[in-house]
Amino acid sequence: MSKFRLNDYETVVTSIKEIAPDVCLLTFKKKWHFLAGQVVGIALKGGDDPRMYSLSGGTDDQEGEIIFDIKPEGSLTPRLSKLKVGDKLFVSEPFGEFTANEKPAWWIASGTGVAPFASMVRSGFIKDKRLIQGGRFAYSFYFEDTFKQALGENYIRCCSQETGDGLYPGRVTTWLEEQTDLPKDVLYYICGNAEMVVDARDILIKKEIPYENIHSEIYF
Ligand SMILES: Cc1cc2nc3c(=O)[nH]c(=O)nc-3n(C[C@H](O)[C@H](O)[C@H](O)COP(=O)(O)OP(=O)(O)OC[C@H]3O[C@@H](n4cnc5c(N)ncnc54)[C@H](O)[C@@H]3O)c2cc1C
Repeated sequence: MSKFRLNDYETVVTSIKEIAPDVCLLTFKKKWHFLAGQVVGIALKGGDDPRMYSLSGGTDDQEGEIIFDIKPEGSLTPRLSKLKVGDKLFVSEPFGEFTANEKPAWWIASGTGVAPFASMVRSGFIKDKRLIQGGRFAYSFYFEDTFKQALGENYIRCCSQETGDGLYPGRVTTWLEEQTDLPKDVLYYICGNAEMVVDARDILIKKEIPYENIHSEIYF
């Protein structure tokens, strides 16, 4: 993302908490409306290159919300994780076209890539939606209470490093490989790290899902 005009987008942190090891949920005062699935650019001071984050809150929420992994050697996230309520933050206007609509859809996510789908559910996009969420550990299923309540049987958790009640033992891509009757007339949204997104897209194409039905967002 190109540099945004920082002074236009100064805001303050309203809450921050670590919801799993090295994963934080941060909220801030927002001055704009957004579409579920959009992203914002975030920086701590002028001159910094902003990083992009999907908004995870509902479109009617008073505050903006993001979820992020702390990358130990990263330039922004270690500093972001140390912010306190009331600290200054620069957040761009929302943008992006990885947005929800009323059509039936399967959502495929890994790690914090579940954020846009949390936003979609919290914005009321629930009917005819199915979420396949991938995580390494049992604690990696961020927003799982929200998803369980909203999606019921249409919420599938794939856990690659642990076994547990209700968890599919393996990656989202392995789960996808095993499906013999993927519907061809629904939209597929894929979000997360590059490896998962590319692999999931390849599997869908191999299973004859029309290319135009596949939407993806890569967190690089
Ligand atoms: C559209 C989009 C949406 C996104 N949404 C989210 C989201 O909702 N949540 C989320 O957590 N992330 C999201 N991301 C990723 C996010 O934008 C950042 O890339 C991420 O948080 C890392 O930022 P950072 O500044 O801490 O790390 P960076 O400084 O960008 O470093 C990234 C990685 O590279 C490594 N690295 C840095 N410098 C070097 C070096 N010199 N040599 C070797 N390795 C190095 C670091 O260890 C780190 O692991 C999104 C990305 C995109 C493109």
